[in-house]
Amino acid sequence: MTTTIGTNLEHIRQSITNTAIRCNRPPENIRLVAVSKRFPTSAIFDAQKHGQLLFGENYIQEAEKKHNELSNDVQLHFIGHLQSNKAKTAAKISSMIETVDRLKLAKALNRHCVDLNKNLDILIQVNIGKDPNKSGVLPEDTEQLVTKVKEFKNLQIRGLMTIPPITNSPEETRPFFQHLKELAIRLSNKDLLPQEEKGLELSMGMSSDYTVAIEEGATLIRVGTAIFGQRPPL
Ligand SMILES: *Cc1c(COP(=O)(O)O)cnc(C)c1O
Repeated sequence: MTTTIGTNLEHIRQSITNTAIRCNRPPENIRLVAVSKRFPTSAIFDAQKHGQLLFGENYIQEAEKKHNELSNDVQLHFIGHLQSNKAKTAAKISSMIETVDRLKLAKALNRHCVDLNKNLDILIQVNIGKDPNKSGVLPEDTEQLVTKVKEFKNLQIRGLMTIPPITNSPEETRPFFQHLKELAIRLSNKDLLPQEEKGLELSMGMSSDYTVAIEEGATLIRVGTAIFGQRPPL
């Protein structure tokens, strides 16, 4: 039986495919991260039954609890603000940490990955709109951070992630997505990030603006509300 979550997923997959084809991108280069924060594990099971295996979580305790209930084929991307003292759990339960934005955090993650004998994929979170209320390294400081984080042998920097400032329309987020891509290409031309054809990742776009993000080169879109509905309060 198809559930609401199943129907929503079907709709978003169709929309990803349509958008990709419209801008001459292979649809399989765009991965959907289903953001399940604040929803019970049963919502993840529901999505999993409809073929979704990649989820995004923001809160480390909640993510750990869910991780323990999930099967091994489910992957979690950590997409919330991460404190260094939670780095150990995050390193253990995540297949990717999308929100590395400072050296201290990278150092802690690398140390725990050495202990766990794990290679961890990470993204550098960039505060592309220089929004004082948002985490992320400033665009002008990104090259320096990437250069230092590259030294950590157990962390693999796959690309960049951003949360643009809140705007009135999806179209207004376009310049922020363009800037993130420009920055990523510049760093990849300096061999600081993977080349585009070698899987450079750009995590950008949420429920309201993921089609704009795909048009501007997103390879990971993080969609919550459009799959699971309105989030329950904390
Ligand atoms: C909650 C969250 C999302 C999902 O937002 P929706 O608008 O519900 O799609 C995406 N990215 C991050 C970093 C989030 O915290």
